[in-house]
Amino acid sequence: MVVPPFVFVARDYREFYGEAILQHGYGHYLQFRKYGAWKYYFSIAPKSILAALRKDDYDPVEVEANQLAHAYFGEASLMGGRYFPLR
Ligand SMILES: [Zn+2]
Repeated sequence: MVVPPFVFVARDYREFYGEAILQHGYGHYLQFRKYGAWKYYFSIAPKSILAALRKDDYDPVEVEANQLAHAYFGEASLMGGRYFPLR
């Protein structure tokens, strides 16, 4: 879950997902930059929280965060696969 400018990552969550969760979190930050604070807090963030509660990694909001992070990190991207799908 990401509430810019802060990125909260539960400790055990990070150990399980590794650095990829940090890249995913940065993807949410890029959404914040793309859509602006208003849309982020009232549209993107609530959808992201609901997707997390459903454990739905394929929610469009989550996938877009992965895609933005993937484009940003380039060859260093850890996005893709089961937990951080790109589509
Ligand atoms: Zn997310």
